[in-house]
Amino acid sequence: MKYYDKLIFELSKPGRRGYSLPSGDWGDGEIPVPESLRRAEAPKLPQVSEPDVVRHYVNLSNMNFGVDTGFYPLGSCTMKYSPRINEEMASHPGFTGLHPLQPSETVQGAMTLYASLSSALCTLTGMSAFTLNPFAGAHGELTGLMIMRNYHNSRGDTGRTKIIVPDSAHGTNPASAAVCGLEVVQVKSTPHGTIDVNDLKPLLDDSVAGIMMTNPNTLGLFETEIREIAELVHAAGGLLYYDGANMNALLGKVRPGDMGFDIMHLNLHKTFSTPHGGGGPGAGPVGVAAPLADFLPAPAVAPDGNGRLEWFEPKNSAGRISGFHGNFGVLMKAYAYILMLGRQDVKNVGPYAVLAANYVKESLKDCYKLPVDSLCKHEFVFDGLADDSSDVTTLDVAKRLLDYGFHAPTIYFPLLFHQSMMIEPTETESVETLDAFIDVMRKIAEEALTQPELLKTAPHNTPVRRPDETAAAVHPVLKYNFQSAEQ
Ligand SMILES: *Cc1c(COP(=O)(O)O)cnc(C)c1O
Repeated sequence: MKYYDKLIFELSKPGRRGYSLPSGDWGDGEIPVPESLRRAEAPKLPQVSEPDVVRHYVNLSNMNFGVDTGFYPLGSCTMKYSPRINEEMASHPGFTGLHPLQPSETVQGAMTLYASLSSALCTLTGMSAFTLNPFAGAHGELTGLMIMRNYHNSRGDTGRTKIIVPDSAHGTNPASAAVCGLEVVQVKSTPHGTIDVNDLKPLLDDSVAGIMMTNPNTLGLFETEIREIAELVHAAGGLLYYDGANMNALLGKVRPGDMGFDIMHLNLHKTFSTPHGGGGPGAGPVGVAAPLADFLPAPAVAPDGNGRLEWFEPKNSAGRISGFHGNFGVLMKAYAYILMLGRQDVKNVGPYAVLAANYVKESLKDCYKLPVDSLCKHEFVFDGLADDSSDVTTLDVAKRLLDYGFHAPTIYFPLLFHQSMMIEPTETESVETLDAFIDVMRKIAEEALTQPELLKTAPHNTPVRRPDETAAAVHPVLKYNFQSAEQ
């Protein structure tokens, strides 16, 4: 154990101070806090010097894995590199110093950004209006489904209580539908991994509000029958919802609006480069076709007729879905990213993401089982090792990758296969990085046959090895336990 692997409480020595502040007029220890606000007892904080505090936190941060420390092929999460210029733009004091309740005439710049980003997203997706208010993809799904329900209800079409979701869907799709009070009906995939149109047809009637689709789907496959699906669903009076969390493969090339989708969300924290992980920060803007624009949540932005922008509540809006105007920092980063790419470079995102995914897939498909062997888009799914004569599982492979300094792919999702390993390299990695990953994946496949025990007990080189993930979630230990330390 290295000296600084010690917990900060173990470095504590009475009287040490972890800060340097000007002593001020009041003298040390006599800060004029009113008696009523003072705590009865001193807090049990470690007493360490400032360099020890700094080292403690820097060392902690080094135990973490992030997109800035290594390759992160976490399928469906689009862990692409986030250009630093985004951070610089988003930390501009002209924006960070604003208060969301300021009078609108004093925040015209921020409102212009809101309107400009909405309009850029319309251009990229073929939708006609966007709300930037939702905080995440799942939040966007709920918002979009509420719009779908309210649209049907506003026309007196109140019997549409079902939503069709493919069996390959991201877990948030059926979850959001359930939260929205819709009954989820599953449509099957063909052995080629796309929606089975023959399974869909009998499901369509006047009890169906719509269908939720991801295209390319979670197997990374483009739903080539989307035109026919759109016609069938529309003919039955339903609407099409597009889960655009991973729009990477299509960016600048193909637009959900042109495919026939009526409502969609984007994950700015995936496709548009904001760093994310551990639950945030995110933004899940929702776009709609023209007939649904009046159903967007409040507040929306529009010109007030006197050369200014004003917040307003759309006519058929269900009201607010977030406190103010969404996760503004994330919106700013996405806007900076879009401007940085421009109309030309945005067209390279998809081809490079697709090329990288196919390159990795083709280089590894002799070692790992490829259940659907066709051209993929931004990601693909292996179903465990090609040679399954050992008892090495996808989990063991994922854990072993950490020893080699790569983040694991998404595992055991999608649920269509038992040993799913979902790999998404993104467009921001060099061919050398992809080659290094391929080498390691090949080496691990070999180790599975020659030294399976090494994989079963991996990782060996990480600060934390195989935690009990259920216990960690159900009984998290969030504070230092003096009693167990004293024992
Ligand atoms: C990530 C993701 C979501 C959910 O987005 P969150 O921001 O995590 O709520 C939905 N659908 C797909 C396909 C995704 O990859």
